[in-house]
Amino acid sequence: MSGKIKLVFIIIVGALLVIYYIGLPLYASRMDAKMNRATVPAPYQVSVAAQTLHDSLIVADLHADFLLWNRNFLKKNDYGLVDLPRMQEGNLSLQAFTIVSKVPKGINIHKNTGDTDQITLLTLAQHWPFKSLSSLKERALFQSRKLHDFAEKSNGKFVIIKTKGELANFMSARAKREKLSAGFLGIEGAQILEGNIANVKVMYDAGFRMMAATHFFDTKLGGSAHGVSLGGLTNFGRQVFQEMQQRGMLIDIAHASPALIDDILAFATTPVVSSHTGVRGVCDNQRNLSDDHIKGIAATGGVIGIGFWDVAVCDFSAEAIVKAIKYTAELVGVDHVCLGSDFDGAIESPFDASGMALITEELIKQGFSEKDIRKIMGENTVRVLSQVLPD
Ligand SMILES: [Zn+2]
Repeated sequence: MSGKIKLVFIIIVGALLVIYYIGLPLYASRMDAKMNRATVPAPYQVSVAAQTLHDSLIVADLHADFLLWNRNFLKKNDYGLVDLPRMQEGNLSLQAFTIVSKVPKGINIHKNTGDTDQITLLTLAQHWPFKSLSSLKERALFQSRKLHDFAEKSNGKFVIIKTKGELANFMSARAKREKLSAGFLGIEGAQILEGNIANVKVMYDAGFRMMAATHFFDTKLGGSAHGVSLGGLTNFGRQVFQEMQQRGMLIDIAHASPALIDDILAFATTPVVSSHTGVRGVCDNQRNLSDDHIKGIAATGGVIGIGFWDVAVCDFSAEAIVKAIKYTAELVGVDHVCLGSDFDGAIESPFDASGMALITEELIKQGFSEKDIRKIMGENTVRVLSQVLPD
């Protein structure tokens, strides 16, 4: 190699290393900060009465995509929407951590295919294991390992719930000890199964206890609300859900096409949830649930997690969130509505996890009793988990 070629080679390799070790992580954290924002920054103030009630609640949330991003869960971050210190500040004690594995370019709520993917670049930019560049299953397993690592390093402040017994232990510990928080793992879109039924057990063994058939595109299980086929439940989908029910995993209908929701509701024998959604009765669009589907979920004994972002509730405010909660509660009863923020799911929210008391305050304002507020803010979610989780 001549001296000149050697120099060019060194410059190219040097530039690639700078891009990989500095440029790409910086790009990823910029994206995180830009895409996961509170429209009103912390701190948040509520009345003394609302705060006192809020501090006595079990607050549970059915959906957050925190694990997609390379933020330290144990430290208070000045961007993004949820981490352990902000959960503690907001008395958010039970959080579902849901796995995003593949997001088409130019996503919209109307029509997408699975032909393109924005997450591949994000996995590279955030230095995830190289296996997760090509495997959606590996992306799920890696995100599960991240949450387990955080739990281990939390000095007992954060636990991952996988069984009825662990949930009961958490509830009794909460009754005695202020700051214990818990999480459970879910999956947003069954593409992570890579078409193989054996991967249901792999996901169960990795700690996952909830899964939705689809995210933004159709899967081997059925049609997405934002896909191309708008199809119902396939035979493969039936096999997957049958096994999930046997193992004690929650079926999540978020992002499913109307035909797929119909089929799941007819098929399911355990409570079904929508982990994050709006309702068409107050915010009418393709992302949100019809009255019939709300009734169908309630009939299984399940819960509807009301989202915090504008497509779900048509505004950025606690008032809009509670309006959707109220509509749902009036339609099917207060036992079937809960919270499904979608924190860190590339959304804007009116507040971050430290502001959960704003919902309690707004529930009081809109006339809910203390008993109903306890249910909506967390007890309904705990009830469904305690019915479905394995022993
Ligand atoms: Zn989602």
